[in-house]
Amino acid sequence: MKIAVLPGDGIGTEIVAQAARVLEALRGDGLKIELEYAHIGGAGYDAAGDPFPAATEKLALAADAVLLGAVGGYQYDTLPRPMRPEQGLLRIRKGLGLFANLRPALLYPELVNASTLRPEAVSGLDIMILRELTGDIYFGQPRGIRTLDNGEREGFDTMRYSESEIRRVAHVGFRIARKRNKKVCSVDKANVLDTSMFWREIVTGVGKEYPDIGLSHMYVDNAAMQLVRAPKQFDVILTGNIFGDILSDEASMLTGSIGMLPSASLDANNKGMYEPCHGSAPDIAGKDIANPLATILSVAMMMRYTFAREDIAQRIEDAVRKVLRQGLRTADIYEDGMRKVGCATMGDAVVKSL
Ligand code: NAD
Repeated sequence: MKIAVLPGDGIGTEIVAQAARVLEALRGDGLKIELEYAHIGGAGYDAAGDPFPAATEKLALAADAVLLGAVGGYQYDTLPRPMRPEQGLLRIRKGLGLFANLRPALLYPELVNASTLRPEAVSGLDIMILRELTGDIYFGQPRGIRTLDNGEREGFDTMRYSESEIRRVAHVGFRIARKRNKKVCSVDKANVLDTSMFWREIVTGVGKEYPDIGLSHMYVDNAAMQLVRAPKQFDVILTGNIFGDILSDEASMLTGSIGMLPSASLDANNKGMYEPCHGSAPDIAGKDIANPLATILSVAMMMRYTFAREDIAQRIEDAVRKVLRQGLRTADIYEDGMRKVGCATMGDAVVKSL
C-alpha cells in the first residue's frame, strides 16, 4: 500500500500525524504500508513556490492512494489566484482525475447531543453525499473579471457539465446506493439552470439501468431545507460540484462537528485521495485541540475503497467508536461529563483501541 501523505497547512499537520500513526500501527498486522510525505497548498508555496509542486504531483501519481490534511491560511489570502493554496487542491483533484467525492454524514449514537438538531431528528442518520468534483462552475471556462464597454467591471464564471461527466458520476451514485438503502436523490436547480436541466435528463437516463434503485430529484434550495427539516429521508444524495460543496458542509453539522467527517475522492479505478471534509482551521492551528477523527476515518475509507479491505476499515471505525464510548472528546464535540482531550491524546486513544 503505497500512500502519499500530504499534510498541507494549519491543523493539517496535526491531524495527519495522528492518522499516520494509525497507518503505522496497522503495519503491526503485517500490512506493507509505505508512507511518503510531500508539500501541498501554502506549504507547497513556501517550499517550492507552487501550491502543487512538481515533486508532489509525481509522488501522488505514483501512489495507490493519497492522504491529505487541509490547505489554506490567512497569510496566503493576498497571493495571486494561481498561487493560492486552494489551487493545489483543485489541481491534484483534476490531475488525478478524482471526479467522485464521497462524503458520508453518519451520526455516532454517542454524539447525538453534539448535533444542533433535536436527537429525534438526527439519531440513526446515515447519508452519503456524492459530489461531482472535477467539473461545474469551479472549472468552467470562460471565467474572470473584465471591464465592459460602458466602463463597469464585472466578475463571471461558467457552469457547465458534459454528458460523460454526468454519466460517470451518476453510475457511481447508483452503485453506492445498491450497497446501502437503494435510494438516490439527485439534487439540481433544473427550474432555473440549463446545466441542471441537462443533468436531470442524463441522471434519469442512467437511472433506467438501475431499476432496483429508487431515483428522485430535488431542487437544491429545497434540499438545503430538507437536510435540516427531515434529514433521515435521504440515502445517497447525488449532486454537482458547487451544490455538493455547500450541502455536504450543511450535512456535516447534522452530525455534530465537521471534525468528524471523512471523505474519499475516487477516479475511475478506485484510486483515491482521502481527506477530512473540513479546512485548515487556522483559528485553532498549533494548539493541539483539533479533532483528528475525520482524518482517521478517512484512512478507514481508504482501506474500504482503494484497498478493498472492508475488514480493516471496520476495525478503524470500531476503534473510533470505542474511544467515543469511553467518553473522550475533543473540544468541538465536547459536552458536560465527558473527558476533554487534545488532538494527540485522541490519536493515542484510537491507536490503543485499534
Ligand atoms: P474550516 O473548515 O477550516 O473551519 C471552520 C470552523 O470549523 C472553524 O471554526 C474551525 O476551527 C472548525 N474546525 C474545522 N476543522 C476542525 C477540526 N478538525 N477540529 C475542530 N474544529 C474544526 O473552514 P474555514 O474557516 O472556512 O476555512 C479556513 C481555511 O481552510 C481557508 O483558507 C479555506 O480556504 C481552507 N479550506 C480548505 C479546505 C480543504 O483543504 N479541503 C476545505 C475548506 C476550507
